[in-house]
Amino acid sequence: MSDLEKTLSIIKPDAIERALENKIKEEFISNGFKIAKEKKIQLTKSEAELFYKVHETKPFYSDLCDYLSSGPIIVMILEKNDAVKENRKLMGATDPKKADEGTIRKEYGISIDKNSVHGSDSLENAKIEISFFFKDQQ
Ligand code: UDP
Ligand code: MG
Repeated sequence: MSDLEKTLSIIKPDAIERALENKIKEEFISNGFKIAKEKKIQLTKSEAELFYKVHETKPFYSDLCDYLSSGPIIVMILEKNDAVKENRKLMGATDPKKADEGTIRKEYGISIDKNSVHGSDSLENAKIEISFFFKDQQ
């Protein structure tokens, strides 16, 4: 049994900068995800700090927030059965060097920090992250 779920995906600045947004969206669509909502925005550093608050004690936190706010991003609500887990699988490991063949990070990621995409890591966090960007959704 699997449930139709929503998860939050972000195409990060390094991928937008390299004009990969359509290629990455096509990866989601061809793997059975529906892009239910999307918008292109740029975060301020303090918005990025709020979004990544779970990482505030990590040594990479400040650089991560500088990076996420360094240029436009595309935030999307993706829908699919088991969307959270399926998206994490399609994204691949955080470090593109360790990501499996056929994953987005393996294909497009540059480094552990510039790894092209974000995806919610649990259904609970997906709900929190979706409402962070799309106030009227859950
Ligand atoms: N990150 C980093 N250095 C690290 C680990 C993570 O710059 O050593 C960045 C990377 O962009 C990653 C984000 O912080 O995507 C969030 O880290 P997390 O462990 O949640 O990885 P993810 O869920 O994105 O795979
Ligand atoms: Mg994470």
